[in-house]
Amino acid sequence: MDPVQRSGPTIIPREAHCISRKQISPNALRVLYRLKDAGFAAYLVGGAVRDLLLGGAPKDFDIATDATPDQVHKLFRNCRLIGRRFRLAHVMFGPEIIEVATFRANSDDGSGDRELEDGRLVRDNVYGSIEDDAVRRDFTVNALYYAIEDFSVRDYVDGFADLTARRMRLIGDPEARYREDPVRMLRAVRLATKLGFEIDASAADSIPRLADLLLQAPPARLFDEALKLFLGGHGEAGFLALERHGLLVAMLPETHEALQNDATGRSRAMLLRALANTDARVREERPVTPAFLFAALLWPAYRHELQRLGDAGMDPALAHQRAADRVTLHQIERIALPRRFSTPMHEIWALQPRFTLRQRKRVFRLLSHPRFRAAFDFLELRAVEEPGLEPDVVWWREAQGLPSDALADRLQPGKARAPESAERAKKPRRRRRRGGRGGAGGESPAEAVGDGND
Ligand code: ATP
Ligand code: MG
Repeated sequence: MDPVQRSGPTIIPREAHCISRKQISPNALRVLYRLKDAGFAAYLVGGAVRDLLLGGAPKDFDIATDATPDQVHKLFRNCRLIGRRFRLAHVMFGPEIIEVATFRANSDDGSGDRELEDGRLVRDNVYGSIEDDAVRRDFTVNALYYAIEDFSVRDYVDGFADLTARRMRLIGDPEARYREDPVRMLRAVRLATKLGFEIDASAADSIPRLADLLLQAPPARLFDEALKLFLGGHGEAGFLALERHGLLVAMLPETHEALQNDATGRSRAMLLRALANTDARVREERPVTPAFLFAALLWPAYRHELQRLGDAGMDPALAHQRAADRVTLHQIERIALPRRFSTPMHEIWALQPRFTLRQRKRVFRLLSHPRFRAAFDFLELRAVEEPGLEPDVVWWREAQGLPSDALADRLQPGKARAPESAERAKKPRRRRRRGGRGGAGGESPAEAVGDGND
């Protein structure tokens, strides 16, 4: 790396920073002290140091040491060695895992333990000094080391100044670092969003130009990153940042295209609303699912395709199936959405037209569908941008609250079929239908709305 950065660390003594041992996980402290007492160097490093310096509560505590994985293994009974590309020690304390990594170098020593393919890092297991370890990290604010021996913070890359200035700066030449690992572009966007930092121009400028490099990133890794970006509590801001830095087209190409084609801006508004809603759920510690998230992220693409197939005269049920399959198939080439999430995502979509149905059997079938709740939440989100859906939202909101015999009673032919307010909201549509078809049981939502029996 840059030789200028090799002039020794800046040492920030205990009294000049805010990290106190009280904020560090007791298990991480145990590991740090055990390593130190065995004569090894031991540092807290990465996101934990960054977050503690910012006054936040780290999710996990990573440790860097000059002990080899085997030496770490010998020190801890509760330790597992993992990884091939990066050999790491996991020290287990019940549900808490403390990750202990041996200092690694980012330079090829000819041992063949570090491999580049088209400039991309595919294997990286060369041990090195703490300086080596610092400069192979991605952003300067992620390369700060908290030393257990004197409680100081060691800074080899001017990370402390960047942290104070709330700035994400890549270590080394930005373009080379992005080529080495394109996921760093996403990390830049995600971490800047989460921390409320600026991405320094040196690191931001090349992102739009290099966005396509993300196509080479393993789709499984992009799935993990997407979950961190969208389900970490800052999903809406994350999405806007992806757009701003030209990364959306690489992550969600069909959604990007559908949004470009939607002159009304409604699809984008609905998507942002879904993400804001997800952020609120995360804040309230309510559950969030990748199925619902991707149902929202891919909805513009799915709708666009559904429309195209419908315009071509395809039967609605078949068009749904085709559109859902096609959009999913294309998307998983980029982001490996596992089937256990794509299946419920399809169900959320497939249930949308069924909210217009009012036949008794269909109403009860929909209410007892395992995906009813998610599909209804999705309908509510859509209704904000599509006011025509509001009567259905009102009707189903009330229907859910009724005991089943009361609901059944209302759905009897000839009786008021629904909760009162929804009935009022439905009136104009109903009148029209009475004069027209009047039949029930058709597959098409429009035909089925009017009648009470099935
Ligand atoms: P988060 O709060 O999301 O966990 P983090 O910075 O801790 O953020 P991790 O994925 O936990 O992210 O990584 C831990 C550390 O490993 C980082 O702080 C950074 O020093 C280093 N690191 C992670 N990913 C990369 C990468 N792609 N290239 C270089 N260094 C990386
Ligand atoms: Mg981390």
